Amino acid sequence: MVGSALGCAVAEAGLEVCVIEAREPSSAWPVDEVDLRVSALSRGSQQFLANLGVWERMAWMRISPYSEMHVWDAGGQGKIHFSASDIGEPNLGHIVENRVTQLALWERLGELNNALRLCPAQVSGLEFGESPTLTLKDGACLQARLLVGADGRESMVRRLAGIGTQGWDYDQHAIVATITPERHHRHTAWQRFMPTGPLAFLPIDDGRCSIVWSTSPHRAEELMLLDAAEFCHELSLASDGILGDVLEVGPRGVFPLRLGHAETYIREGLALVGDAAHAIHPLAGQGVNLGFLDAASLAEVLIEARAKGRRIGSLATLRRYERARKGANMGMLGAMDFFKRFFSNEVPPLKLARNLGLSLADHSGPLKHLIIRRAMGLAGELPKLVRNKVHS
Ligand SMILES: Cc1cc2nc3c(=O)[nH]c(=O)nc-3n(C[C@H](O)[C@H](O)[C@H](O)COP(=O)(O)OP(=O)(O)OC[C@H]3O[C@@H](n4cnc5c(N)ncnc54)[C@H](O)[C@@H]3O)c2cc1C
Repeated sequence: MVGSALGCAVAEAGLEVCVIEAREPSSAWPVDEVDLRVSALSRGSQQFLANLGVWERMAWMRISPYSEMHVWDAGGQGKIHFSASDIGEPNLGHIVENRVTQLALWERLGELNNALRLCPAQVSGLEFGESPTLTLKDGACLQARLLVGADGRESMVRRLAGIGTQGWDYDQHAIVATITPERHHRHTAWQRFMPTGPLAFLPIDDGRCSIVWSTSPHRAEELMLLDAAEFCHELSLASDGILGDVLEVGPRGVFPLRLGHAETYIREGLALVGDAAHAIHPLAGQGVNLGFLDAASLAEVLIEARAKGRRIGSLATLRRYERARKGANMGMLGAMDFFKRFFSNEVPPLKLARNLGLSLADHSGPLKHLIIRRAMGLAGELPKLVRNKVHS
């Protein structure tokens, strides 16, 4: 998602781009089937994707707007409710299947004269000389003025460039699945914090929900072994019956959760974006939204460097990108890490503090509005491609 978005942004501005992708994005799927992988895309991401000319294409495939969000603590009375109408917006964001975003960006890349798509192709080697030289698994070699590693959490490019990461395992696994609840979700995202991890119900337009259930690795293993009826029963209990009983569940997937941050995002001739640079807990659905901000920010820096006749791969150019994004990403990584620990803690004074904190924040007016605007990707320093407003 992030690499193709960056490719679209810079190819549109006249730079020549080659996007190397190991797996061809799916191009067809049964209408009534929802992808296991979905992301809550912020308004900022929507504006970026609209400016790249892909949002409409995504809307045509399927996007699910949500206008409210309820968050509550299983261990007390604390709860907070966010509503788009509080800040005069039509919705808080959209739940979008990853394959929809991937396909729309991939098709757009295919239409741009300056963009070449190499797929299926896998990176296997990297050398730094005057400019970076990549070797692909089939033996082909490519040279570029700038190589961008957008190859995900286990980034091969990052490893080949010798860039380390800081981070730790969360000791949680996230189970994802599509479920049918007894009651309609009312275009609302629901999230319940339990000591073992958060459980989120994300609304899909057809009345179903995509769930992200973060729990201990041992409990995740047990849940994955249950048959559909037993799993639905456990999920109904864990969700406190917020949407009634869970009636049906589709295929399930499980992802180990880890916090990871690259020690640097750049070196001469190289930049990292998206999960290759930072991996974050999914509890606030910020991962790919941060990645799109990286892509928009790097595109802005590269386009300006080119206009001013500067080398796009020089450290001086790339430092502007790193300065714009590393601190901001670190702030979000830290905040999510804090929430994860704070909400897992069973020490009575901390439980009391978080329940009080949630209820105070719920009634805080301007502070709550700021939280909403930040989660929607509308607050703070934004790259031009994200700032330019589109009609939602
Ligand atoms: C359970 C869960 C729920 C989540 N929910 C949300 C959410 O609601 N909102 C949100 O913003 N984020 C969410 N995220 C995070 C989000 O999924 C990631 O941030 C996002 O996928 C990162 O995108 P990316 O393009 O950087 O990397 P990836 O999606 O990992 O893509 C990397 C790409 O590189 C390709 N690749 C890898 N290695 C090679 C190689 N050697 N050669 C060629 N190609 C290669 C892969 O095929 C892939 O297409 C969630 C994550 C999880 C685990």
